[in-house]
Order: sequence, then structure tokens, then C-alpha cells
Amino acid sequence: MKKTISVLLALFLAFSCASFAFAAQSEDSFGAYDHVFIIGVDGAGRFFKDANTPNFDRIFKDGAVDYTARAETITISAQNWGSILTGVSYLRHRMTNSVTESTPRTSDTKYPTIFTLLHKADPAAKLAVYTNWGAITKGIVENDLGADEVQIGDDGQLTDAMCEYFDAGNKPKLFFSQLDSVDHFGHEYGSKAPEYFAQIETVDGYIGRIYDSLTRNGLMENGLFIVVADHGHRVSKGHGGLTMRETNVMVAVAGKTVAAGGTMDKDTRNRDVAAIALYALGVERPDHMSARIPANLFTGVGGERRSVRNDFADAVFSRIVWPITLCTAWI
Ligand SMILES: [Zn+2]
Repeated sequence: MKKTISVLLALFLAFSCASFAFAAQSEDSFGAYDHVFIIGVDGAGRFFKDANTPNFDRIFKDGAVDYTARAETITISAQNWGSILTGVSYLRHRMTNSVTESTPRTSDTKYPTIFTLLHKADPAAKLAVYTNWGAITKGIVENDLGADEVQIGDDGQLTDAMCEYFDAGNKPKLFFSQLDSVDHFGHEYGSKAPEYFAQIETVDGYIGRIYDSLTRNGLMENGLFIVVADHGHRVSKGHGGLTMRETNVMVAVAGKTVAAGGTMDKDTRNRDVAAIALYALGVERPDHMSARIPANLFTGVGGERRSVRNDFADAVFSRIVWPITLCTAWI
């Protein structure tokens, strides 16, 4: 009898501890998500703010949006998509457009993307990359992870393919897409031209379609949805330099534990998307990252300081050049 009572007591204790642990976990944002969807809009900088974007606005109505996050100091695509997906600066990952277009990347690299980090933590996790620019699947996301990879050089057709993918019942744990058409218009017309804003509005429609397909397939119930830009454009077309129009980028996050109306803090960078995605999926961040969780993003989660030690050269260099960028704020 005594034995039966103690077994029952032990079971009760174990059960109540387990349910307490579960309750504490469910209120936390760490590991609170089954899926993270990252939609990259190449060349969009901060300019969704100045366009008519009803889809973006409805998706992030209760989300957190920062239009003045900082890009990598070199405001070029590979440097920035590389940092957004690895959480380290371009000085560390060393990706350039020509390297990523020509050199396949594998998971034995020193600074892996969040795809490799998730795959190592959860080998069964479904991974998917849908990209316009082929360098993403070739030279940025590692090729030996068994991810579903699609490359289509037309944003509209790429959107069709993404919606079909979700409608077919695919439920990736980590999904990344890069839409490229806004960048083409930036190169052709510059960041003050009506043509550039018209293309942002077209892409806003694509983002709405992607989000709606996730919603109707139940993927947003425990999904985190992120829209991020790699860099902006000069008025005089193109990018790569230090001006504020090139450097300011949007980071927008929607999900069940995101602070409604959050703006993230002033130190937010687009590379922080790597830290945010890992945090949401409950994957420990490797020590080498200089990405961090911004304040005013997740409910009840304070911001972290960016590690200077992890990337001293970038910390120093990005501070040295910042006054130059500030001088261009009025352009
Ligand atoms: Zn780009």
C-alpha cells in the first residue's frame, strides 16, 4: 500500500512538474514556433514605408516593424543575404556576388547558415529555399542539407510556385525566399522613381499571396513571418555604398508572441534575422554570431547587446563609417 502511494505521488509530481515546465515554455518565445518563413525583398531598403502596401500593412498590423535597421557596411546582395542567413558580418563569411554565383557551399563551412544550424539540431526538419537569384541556392544556403530548392527568375512565377508548394501540404520548418524584381527597378530607375515604388507595390501583392497561402494551410498558427531587405538604392540608381538610402533596410516580423506595434531597437541590423529565426525555433545560437535579439520585438523579451568581441573588426569599422552614412541622411 505504502509503495502504491509513493508511486502515485511520484507520478503526480512528475506530471505536475511536466505541465508546469510546458506552461512556462509556452509563454516564452524561445522555441514557440514550428515554422519560420523569411521573405527577402532584394533592393527594397526602407522604401515599403513610402509605398502603398496594403498587404504588408495588414500582415504586420499586430507585428513589429523597423524601417531603419542597418545593412552590412558593403550594401551588396551576397554580403547581406549572407549575413541575414549566417548572423555574422560579411568580414567573417566573406560572401560576394561572384563567389556565391560560382562556388557551391556545403555545411562544413566555418560560418554556416541557419539552415545548417537547424539541420544539425533537428535532422528531420524540412527546409526550403525558393529564390529568384540563383546564387542563394548555389553559394549561400548549403547544398548538402536535402532542402527543397527552387530557382525561378520571375517573382510572379516564383510566387505561384511557393503558393503551390504550401497548398500541396508541404510544411517546412525553415523557409527562405528572395524576390529580386524591386532590385532590378532600383538599378534602372533609382529609389525616388515612381517605377520603383510601383514595383514595390507589385511585390506587396506577392507577399500577400504568400502569406494567405500560409494562413489557409494552417502554417501561421505557429509560424513566424519575416520580411527583410538586403539593401536599398541610391536616388541615382544602384547600391553598394554607405548612403542612408542604401544602408537603411526594413525588418518586419509577425507571429503570436511578437509585440504588436513593436519597432525593435536602434541597433537592429538585418543580420539579426538569423538570431530571431533560431530563437523562434528553439535552436541555441552559436557563440560566434554577432546577430542578436532586438528589444521591442518579442513580448516580454528584452534586447541583447551586440557582441563586440565576436566580430571586433566589424564592430570598429561599422562605427567608424557611421558618421559618413549620417551625413547622407538628408539625401
Ligand atoms: Zn541585393
